[in-house]
Amino acid sequence: MTLEQFKAWLLSRGATIEPSTSEWELVRYRLPSAPGVQIIYRNKKERQTYTGTSFRDWESAYHQVNNLVERVKIPSQPLNIRERSNARRELIVQLRKRDGDNCFYCTTDLFNGEIDPTIEHLIPKAHKGSNHIGNLVLACEPCNQRAGDLPLIQKLQLRKISQ
Ligand SMILES: [Zn+2]
Repeated sequence: MTLEQFKAWLLSRGATIEPSTSEWELVRYRLPSAPGVQIIYRNKKERQTYTGTSFRDWESAYHQVNNLVERVKIPSQPLNIRERSNARRELIVQLRKRDGDNCFYCTTDLFNGEIDPTIEHLIPKAHKGSNHIGNLVLACEPCNQRAGDLPLIQKLQLRKISQ
């Protein structure tokens, strides 16, 4: 799991990612489920060290990301149209199970039959974001368009705070 995938996982959990206060802080964040700031540091040996719940978070993200990828199995071979729409449908089912029915940004209900959910890349493909489920959330079409290729941190600011 890359740091970017971990950040995407954090965001999908409603975390707030804060700017690092030193070059040693790889990621600094708050999760609604735990008090205080969690930090993952880079030590002098280029290893990661963890504070608070961050080791547990890293572990859960790692397992979840790998499990889901294992189960969803999106082949890297080109798919025909039917295979592609099946893979997409399955991915939407997994994302819905993980995150619920609402647009990641505006919280609109994506499954009330009026709109089609789209799959949004938190780290845009243009910025080398992966198709890994850890980098994906469900969004409505207008929000997906608006988010476009914005950097992750700006996308975060598009989120409706009220959740
Ligand atoms: Zn939306």
